[in-house]
Amino acid sequence: MKVLRAKSAGFCWGVERAIEIARDYAHHGRHPVYTDGPLIHNRQMMDVLSKEGIREVGDYQSKADIAVASAAPGDHPVMVVRAHGVSPERRTYLKQIGMEFKDATCPDVGIIAGKIRLHAKKGYSTIIFGDKNHPEAIGLMGYTEGRGYCITSKAEIDALPPLVRVCMVSQSTMFMHEFAELSAYARTKFAEVLVFDTICQATKDRQTDVICLAQLGAQAVVVIGGHHSANTVKLASLARLQNLPTFHIETASELDPVEMNKYQVVGVTAGASTPEFLISEVCTALSAL
Ligand code: SF4
Repeated sequence: MKVLRAKSAGFCWGVERAIEIARDYAHHGRHPVYTDGPLIHNRQMMDVLSKEGIREVGDYQSKADIAVASAAPGDHPVMVVRAHGVSPERRTYLKQIGMEFKDATCPDVGIIAGKIRLHAKKGYSTIIFGDKNHPEAIGLMGYTEGRGYCITSKAEIDALPPLVRVCMVSQSTMFMHEFAELSAYARTKFAEVLVFDTICQATKDRQTDVICLAQLGAQAVVVIGGHHSANTVKLASLARLQNLPTFHIETASELDPVEMNKYQVVGVTAGASTPEFLISEVCTALSAL
């Protein structure tokens, strides 16, 4: 079988940076290193990190109170904020729980937060194209000064109250074509709409590469990554939109050799939170078929 691996498959720079920050503390004798929710949405990588002393506390949406045992003598706990970022309220809360605070928010998410904050202060309402249950969108809503709306469809735009001045951004991992369509629609609904395309370059590269796999002759696509990873789920649905049989798996053990043997050329991509060891394992297993 010929395996076509997408150039962009695997960690994006924001995830890599957050992992390096947490690892740097752990490897230099700081312990425990806590993260507010899962540092990345990949179970296998979280297992690796937990063996290095990096522990997830809090919850997926960064809403719950943090409950950790009191520091033992010799402990120097640190709380690391993950790449998705948090709301200003959550940041204030994490800073007063009695341990060092380190912000590993991806700078690309920081740029989105900055645009929202700047325009909210000028009186704009904010429309975020994003999943209202995703931690990144939850964090970004905290910068809207109470005038933020998370939407994913034209029907949800139709249901918004009458807004006059609108700042429209996207969660970093959404589909480019959907943001273009919805922002154009929002412009027809409100008097003034400032649109900022805040889908990050890492996401755009991964989406473009999936389309390239189809153009290069892939007969099926294997997408590797956590089933709860928003950007991985999106890559899988984009591959399906190319009319290619698509298999979203977390590890090579989920590959069905009988099914995969139906194809001579298979494309492989992976979400921004998928570690290299999982991608190599899948490529090796497919090449051996
Ligand atoms: S997907 Fe984009 S915004 Fe999110 S962590 Fe990676 S580079 Fe940053």
